[in-house]
Amino acid sequence: MRCPRCKDDNDRVVDSRTSAEGTVIRRRRECLSCFLRYTTYERIEETALRVVKKSGERVSFDRDRILTGMLRACEKLPVPVEELEMACARVEARILEEHDREVPSVVVGSLVMEELRSLDQVAYVRFASVYREFRDVSQFLEELSPIMGRKKAKKAKKPKKPKKSKKKGAGEDGEG
Ligand SMILES: [Zn+2]
Repeated sequence: MRCPRCKDDNDRVVDSRTSAEGTVIRRRRECLSCFLRYTTYERIEETALRVVKKSGERVSFDRDRILTGMLRACEKLPVPVEELEMACARVEARILEEHDREVPSVVVGSLVMEELRSLDQVAYVRFASVYREFRDVSQFLEELSPIMGRKKAKKAKKPKKPKKSKKKGAGEDGEG
């Protein structure tokens, strides 16, 4: 991997972590020339997944757009960008797991909301209010009530344990 600072191609992997049910590997690398530490993500090559908007319009799936939306929702909140990147990778992994060619934008939105809800409640409400385009206050409060109930629970972060789910390809397609 070429160092983003000195451009030397001379690095070592300091740490490797698997996330998003094993579909993403995060590597912490160190440049041996200038000692800069940086992160790389290894993931399955993106397919031509398309997002189907409410209008029926199809746009190509864009990870960065998801991250941008999450970053915006977390503006000025104590959420590390790294957490958001991991959340974003999980969203992508889940979409790819369940959708082959096309995914409704509603699904993408709710997966993002799910992630934000476990990261930061304010971010979640921000995102939800923009995404869901709340018509009135009562709808907004409705969305808010499960959060308020949850607030009493422990604040401790629960790292999601990757579940051991065995998924095997469903047979092979023989051609001729
Ligand atoms: Zn370097």
